[in-house]
Amino acid sequence: MGFSALNLNQKLINTVTKLGYETPTPIQAQAIPAILEGRDIMGGAQTGTGKTAAFALPIIHLLTAHKLMAQELTANATEPTAKKQIRALILTPTRELSQQVHKSFVKYSEDSELTAELVYGGVSINPQVKALAQGADILVATPGRLLDLLDRETLTLEFVEKIVFDEADRMLDMGFMEEIRRILKHLPKKRQTMLFSATFDDAIFKLSKSLLNDPLLVEV
Ligand code: AMP
Repeated sequence: MGFSALNLNQKLINTVTKLGYETPTPIQAQAIPAILEGRDIMGGAQTGTGKTAAFALPIIHLLTAHKLMAQELTANATEPTAKKQIRALILTPTRELSQQVHKSFVKYSEDSELTAELVYGGVSINPQVKALAQGADILVATPGRLLDLLDRETLTLEFVEKIVFDEADRMLDMGFMEEIRRILKHLPKKRQTMLFSATFDDAIFKLSKSLLNDPLLVEV
């Protein structure tokens, strides 16, 4: 099965073809159609399985489709274009993972009008505050720094439609439960949520239960 069987838009298919991807990996073949249908996902996958594209490609597809609809509705409007609001949030446990995931989003959204920003802790916050002032469609973040930015009212999550918890087991191991709880208070109730984890234990199932709505379990 090729990528064209997955109902992703042609631009995305061209992008992955240019990257040399010929067939979706198992996690991609299972997760992409379900995410495109709007389902919440609980994904069991390690790094190296293609899990980043499994959520990034359908998220880019869905944000682009909604954007086109919004543009058509306002095609005759004369107001200046409003600042971009965060519509997809990807939470990752570490700086390294956030950098990798951000890089993937930049790569996969190259042929779209979407923009992706990256924020993580351990570095000066000011450049991140400045970058976010420009607005972005997609934000990749580590939990602590995201909360700092929310406390400073640098950004709002009220327009978030899609949220991914990447490597959720590591987030719990690193003690981010309290941060996750605080971030959830900033998110709309009506949203599509995806959780990926390399391992599943009681703590992950409990977290999933509190975050996900009728999720589809995809495991590879
Ligand atoms: P990840 O598991 O998301 O860290 O991805 C692992 C690596 O696989 C990355 O270098 C991707 O560029 C690559 N990759 C992802 N999906 C595919 C695919 N369908 N075909 C070939 N390579 C892929």
